[in-house]
Amino acid sequence: MEPIRFVTPPLMANSYLLLDEKPSLIDVGGDSSFIVKAVSRHINPKEIKFVFLTHSHFDHAMACIDLKRWFGCKIVMHEKEFELLKSGYTLFGYRFYVEPDIIVKGGELFDLGELELEVIHTPGHTPGSVCYYEPKKKWLFSGDTVFAHGAFGRVDLPGGNAFELIESLKKLAELDVERLYPGHEDVIEENAKEHILKALEIAKIFL
Ligand SMILES: [Zn+2]
Repeated sequence: MEPIRFVTPPLMANSYLLLDEKPSLIDVGGDSSFIVKAVSRHINPKEIKFVFLTHSHFDHAMACIDLKRWFGCKIVMHEKEFELLKSGYTLFGYRFYVEPDIIVKGGELFDLGELELEVIHTPGHTPGSVCYYEPKKKWLFSGDTVFAHGAFGRVDLPGGNAFELIESLKKLAELDVERLYPGHEDVIEENAKEHILKALEIAKIFL
């Protein structure tokens, strides 16, 4: 089973559909009609069990309000991200609210069938950013913490923290990662660990 990627409006965030025994989405973008249409080409959206959010930025998460309301998907979010969301912060003029169904702290394991997702708390881009790691496949769904080619998330948005981002990159650099599924831009299918090490190196110099 391969993750199916959707590039979602309004800011081209990546959303990943995992067609496992418990079908799930990792991030959903900001436009619910887009994501419902995209998912419907593969599966009835009512089948979606979990929506795993990497963080609460509208371009990754806002469509989850309707997915929860229409289909009863369980929203998974880090406790610190829920605090940030409750603070009512605004990003590029957008503000939304959703009540998560499952609040995580890091270290949790979700068994989806073939895949298992481990929650790794990676603050820095936002206080409750998380990555989801599949240990058998060595896949990392990294949200806006780390991207391909040594790029990493902004730390100048609400709750961002450069020191924490570097610490998070160090944590990720210890993992065995073959494939990187980031929150924007290219997916890396081989040797993704090198991309993470490069991001750590650059972040240490520039942050
Ligand atoms: Zn973001």
